[in-house]
Amino acid sequence: MSQKYILALDQGTTSSRSVIVDQKGEIIGIEQQEFPQIFPKSGWVEHDPFAILESQLSTLKKVIQKTNINSADIVGLGITNQRETTVVWDKNTGKPIYNAIVWQDKRTADICENLKKNGLENHIRQTTGLVVDPYFSGTKIHWILENVPNARAASAEGNLLFGTIDSWLLWNLTDKKIHATDYSNASRTMLFDIKKLCWDEKLLTALNIPISMLPAVKPSSFHFGDFILDGHTIPIAGIAGDQQAALFGQACFKKGEAKNTYGTGCFLLMNTGTELQFSKNGLLTTIAWGINGKVYYALEGSIFVAGAAIQWLRDGLKIINSAEESELFAKEVEGENPVIVVPAFAGLGAPYWDMYARGAIFGLTLDTGKNHLIKATLQSLAYQTKDLLIAMQHDAESPLTSLKVDGGACANNLLMQFQADILDAVVERPKNTETTVMGAAYLAGICVGLWKQEDIETDKKLGKTFIPTISSEKRERLYKRWLKAVERSKDWID
Ligand code: ADP
Repeated sequence: MSQKYILALDQGTTSSRSVIVDQKGEIIGIEQQEFPQIFPKSGWVEHDPFAILESQLSTLKKVIQKTNINSADIVGLGITNQRETTVVWDKNTGKPIYNAIVWQDKRTADICENLKKNGLENHIRQTTGLVVDPYFSGTKIHWILENVPNARAASAEGNLLFGTIDSWLLWNLTDKKIHATDYSNASRTMLFDIKKLCWDEKLLTALNIPISMLPAVKPSSFHFGDFILDGHTIPIAGIAGDQQAALFGQACFKKGEAKNTYGTGCFLLMNTGTELQFSKNGLLTTIAWGINGKVYYALEGSIFVAGAAIQWLRDGLKIINSAEESELFAKEVEGENPVIVVPAFAGLGAPYWDMYARGAIFGLTLDTGKNHLIKATLQSLAYQTKDLLIAMQHDAESPLTSLKVDGGACANNLLMQFQADILDAVVERPKNTETTVMGAAYLAGICVGLWKQEDIETDKKLGKTFIPTISSEKRERLYKRWLKAVERSKDWID
C-alpha cells in the first residue's frame, strides 16, 4: 500500500510556506518563499494578492518535487494563514480591486473612532468578542469600498467578493468555484456573530458592506472544495487562522489548555471549550475552530514586544550578536537578577492597556553589567506571559496546569525554565515546533479520515518539559518586583 500524505499551506505575513506531512504526522518536506511588503504611507501595510498566490503555488510545487511524492498520494490539503488581512476582488475577472490590506495596517483608525461614536463598541464586544480596532477586517473592507473608484457600484451589483487570505487561496485553488472561510477566520473580521455563527446585520449596515460579498462560513475541519493537481483531485479539508491553527497543532483540545507563541510578539491562546467566555481583562474572545459539529472558543491575548526585545539587544544596543547568544550571556548571571526590564517600547497591552507607558530599566547598581540586562530582557517575556495568563485564568475560571510553547524564542532553555518557575506550571515544548502548519495538516487529515483527533493527542511528541523549581516565596518576591516595575513605567509620555 502506498503512503498517504497531507499538503499543508502556511500563508504568513512575510512568507508563504508549503509542507508535506506523512501518515505518521512527520514533516518530510518544507519550502518557503518571501514576498514583498508594500508600505505606501506611514501606518499603511499592503500585499499584492497575486504575489501571495504565486509564492504559495510555487512553494507547493517545489515541495512536491523535492519530496518526490506522487500527487495522487496527497489525500488532503490544509490551509493556515495570516489573519484579518483583507482582499476584495471582482468575481468575474478574478482580479483584486485593491492590494490586500494587511492586519498591521492602521489606516482605518478613524472608521473605528466613528463606530465608537455611534455607540457600537459594546455591541461589537458582545457579538464578535473583539475590541474596536483597525487590526480586524471589517473596517478595511469599508475603506476599500469607499476609496476604490467604482467599488461601491460594483459591490451593489454583486460583482465583488471579500475574503481573508484563506478565502482568497481557496477560491483560486478551486478554480474560482468556492467562496468560503472557516469559523476561526470569520471570527477575526469584526463582522461575525460568534454566538449565532452568522454575519451580523447590524455591523454590515454600520459599515455599509453588502452580505453578497461575504464568504460562506464553515467548520475548520471540513471538505471545502477540491484542488486539481496533475489531474488528481485533492480535497481542501482544513482551514484555520494561524494562532488558532497553532493551538490545534499543539493539541490544546481541552478546556483550560493554552499555548504561547514566542515570536516577534507573543500570542497566548487558551481553549475555553464550547462555552463562550468574555474577558473582564481586555482579552479577546475568538472562535478556536469548528470540528465534528461543535464550535470551540478561545481567549486570546497578545504581547506587543517579546522577541522584538531580543532584537533590540542585538540591533539597537548591539550587546549580542544573535538571538541565540542571549542565553549564553544570561547564564553568566549568578543568583537572582536584581535588574528588571519593562519592554513597554510601544506602551503596554493587555492586561494594562496603557499607551503612554514606555520601556524602563530598574534596579541598576554599579555592579550591573550587560549580562544582567540581557537576562532581564529575556525574563520580561516570561513576566509578561504571566500577566496575561493570570488575566486569562480569571476570565476562564480554570487553573492552568501546563503551558505549551512554540515560536522562535521558545528555543531558549533559560527563558523556558524561568517561564515554568515564574508561572509555577509545567512548560511543554514539542519536538516539532512547526505547530501552526501542523494544525492545518491535522484539521485536514482528520476531515479526510487519515487521523483521529484522539490519536493526535496521544501521539504528540514532547521535545522538552520544564518543571518549576523555585520556592513559592521566591516566585512571589520576583513577581512582586516585576509588578512594581510595571507600575513605575506607566503613564510616562504626555
Ligand atoms: P515571527 O514569526 O514573529 O517572525 P519567530 O517565531 O520566527 O517570529 O521568532 C523570531 C523571534 O524570536 C525574534 O524576535 C528573535 O529575536 C527571537 N528569538 C529567536 N531565537 C531566540 C533565542 N534562542 N532566544 C531568544 N529569542 C530568540
